[in-house]
Amino acid sequence: MPVDPRIAHALQQISPAQIQHIIATLVTFRNRSTLSSMVKDLPPGTGVTAAADWIYGQFQAISAQCGGCLEVHRDTFTQEPGTGPNARITQPTTLTDVYAVLRGTDPSQTARMLLVSGHYDSRNSSNFNATDPAPGANDDASGVAVSLECARALSHLRFPATLIFVTVAGEEQGLYGSEHLAQEAKQQNWQLEGVLNNDIVGGNRTPGDKFQDEHAVRVFSEPVPADATPEQIRRILMLGYDSDSPSRELARAITEVARTYTGAPAASSHPTPSGLEPVLEFRTDRFLRGGDHESFNQQGYAAVRFSEWREDFNHQHQNVRVEDGVQYGDLLRYVDFNYVVRVARLNAATMAVLASAPPPPAHVIYPFPAHFVFNNSLNNTTISWQPAPGTPAGTHYLIVWRPTAAPNWMRTISAEKAGVKTIGTGQDATYTVTLPISKDNVIFGVIAVDPQGHRSPAVVPWPGR
Ligand SMILES: [Zn+2]
Repeated sequence: MPVDPRIAHALQQISPAQIQHIIATLVTFRNRSTLSSMVKDLPPGTGVTAAADWIYGQFQAISAQCGGCLEVHRDTFTQEPGTGPNARITQPTTLTDVYAVLRGTDPSQTARMLLVSGHYDSRNSSNFNATDPAPGANDDASGVAVSLECARALSHLRFPATLIFVTVAGEEQGLYGSEHLAQEAKQQNWQLEGVLNNDIVGGNRTPGDKFQDEHAVRVFSEPVPADATPEQIRRILMLGYDSDSPSRELARAITEVARTYTGAPAASSHPTPSGLEPVLEFRTDRFLRGGDHESFNQQGYAAVRFSEWREDFNHQHQNVRVEDGVQYGDLLRYVDFNYVVRVARLNAATMAVLASAPPPPAHVIYPFPAHFVFNNSLNNTTISWQPAPGTPAGTHYLIVWRPTAAPNWMRTISAEKAGVKTIGTGQDATYTVTLPISKDNVIFGVIAVDPQGHRSPAVVPWPGR
């Protein structure tokens, strides 16, 4: 994908000084436990509500710099207590999600949305301690810094589709803030094409740790959609699409963005010194753990999680203390601000590319009855698709494929070169290509591309008519 100079310039606006300022300020709120919203007589300038006020002000300040381009929202609601002996909210608790919307400028595409999120709540060793220090510098002031810096850098540009910059609370008690927002999104029919959750992206740098990789970020994606019915899962397994959920195609699209914008090499495990390589992790989240992207997965949205390469558990969910000469606590001093810059740039580039690209193609199928005719033509593959609603004029298409056991797309051909046949015009067009490659051995995808080369995520074909 070619570099878009507007996007490249915007990425340069994301600065380590700004990232440091955001994370250092969030740490000053002492303890951002969601439960602190119910504590009376907190010292001024401390607690989760003061942090929400500050984030809201940051979004407003960013908006003031772009002529009021952002709609800044503060969504406050009451979370009812959890159930069971392990409930981490035990009384009705006030929660606030703070987010800002940069509306898309193309009336036929403004309903399309890309969303970036981090959680601003924090915790220490005890879920119920809402007053002793819980700096949460890495977990997850770093993710909040990504959302705020994406908003600041991208608000100077305009995109056909809509961008949403989110910070949520309640993550540590059970993903409550993101659950609320994802449910709202579903009820209001938000057309979210991708959710980027950043949680623990501080690039922890404990002195002496030789295992951190400051040029790698993990990208977790679900294998099959969390909202798939048993019948849908049966069909996914039958077709061999157990590694092709929309979330996973989003993760693959991020690796494509990285090749262009963060200097990750196409086929090497040795990134350039200033680069950042997204490492695809083929599971929903880290082993037996979860995050806010799953709230969006539950509502049927494509959503992935970014996390630093190697976490240090002495610096997560710990009371700040020194024990046997070991410093515990999620302290500012362990955050690598340059690393957070790289992660923020990858997020911003992904949002900018996907919001500039046409919508992913619609009705991508292996048309019936081609796949039921048992003759030598079965070694060919015919794929057809249509433009999704809102697809602008000038959109063209790429066919990508990979061997069934390969993690990422390996081959690409333009639909034109593949001899695409078109029936109908404009929004009513149906495109068809036939390739001399058996779909028994590869997985195909179709990508929509605008005239500047911005690529949508891939869509895999399903048997259809
Ligand atoms: Zn977290």
